[in-house]
Amino acid sequence: MLIPFEYILQKFYQYAGYPQFKKSSNTYIAGCPICREGSSWGKKRRCIYIVEDNAICCHNCGWYSDAIKWITEVAGLTFNEILNEAKEFDILPLEVIKSNDAPVKAKPVERLPLDSINIFDENQIKFFENNNIINDAIDLVKQRRIDTAINRPDTLWVSLKDKVHKNRIIIPFYDEHNNIIFYQSRLIYKEDMRLYPKYLSKINGEKSLYNINKISQDLDYIFVFEGPIDSFFVKNGTAVSGIQENSSNTFSLLQEQQLAPFRFYKKIWVLDSQWQDSASKTKTQKLIDSGETVFIWPEEQGKKYKDINDLCIAEKLDKIDPSFFIDNSSSGIKAKLQMSVIYR
Ligand SMILES: [Zn+2]
Repeated sequence: MLIPFEYILQKFYQYAGYPQFKKSSNTYIAGCPICREGSSWGKKRRCIYIVEDNAICCHNCGWYSDAIKWITEVAGLTFNEILNEAKEFDILPLEVIKSNDAPVKAKPVERLPLDSINIFDENQIKFFENNNIINDAIDLVKQRRIDTAINRPDTLWVSLKDKVHKNRIIIPFYDEHNNIIFYQSRLIYKEDMRLYPKYLSKINGEKSLYNINKISQDLDYIFVFEGPIDSFFVKNGTAVSGIQENSSNTFSLLQEQQLAPFRFYKKIWVLDSQWQDSASKTKTQKLIDSGETVFIWPEEQGKKYKDINDLCIAEKLDKIDPSFFIDNSSSGIKAKLQMSVIYR
């Protein structure tokens, strides 16, 4: 099978970030479009096209495959589409060995605090059964129905040593390749709330979308929450880790890219009850002004509960039917009118 080297190189220049040729090793190095270099996009070049082996690997996410497989991944082309495109290249061809092996992925780079314990893993929990912090974390998780919620993460962590995130529940954000690329931690102890923020994001981490790897095609809605825990209770729930009140960008650059494949889904923003929270009111109004569709809490639930997690705890629910959000969402003038009824 013949694919011209120049074709591959063109694809590499097209999809990898800020490429450079390294003459000494006959390689091209660039920002990896698959992991986006973690939080180092624009700074590091850990994606390497090894011309001699016709292979592309990334020292950050561990991607390793022949160049053609890499192109199918980053360009979204099938093998045949690549063959057809490559035919147009009227240049010296390069022998390429067709490989049917799946790309070999190394273990994802350790991105959580190093000593993190997965409290969804019974074996790990057994080992820590006499640890008070772990036990308190598990109690909180059960009390908040986090361990049974339908859109919970696959893992949930506690660090006992990390300088910033210790003694907090760490919620992982997986990317579309099931790698943890971001996390947010939540306080376990109420009494810590006077001293520490309830939620903390990974330091220097680029905000990712929660459970973007779990968006299902069976439902053409995506529910965008501010914090992940509320989004645990609805199918196609995701979370942005906070909206900047004074910024016009609701999504980070990475989040925009993660949403791109879902552009035909209808997005509904779900914030805390506007009946109780003035910050939520302001944010809802801003979202309406920028043309977004928002869930407006119905009076009955909105006066009783401050957020979705509270509602689920009180009503003993592990999931909320998407229709609850769809039926109570609106945009534009209609949304503005509904908001004005809340705040007379
Ligand atoms: Zn990578």
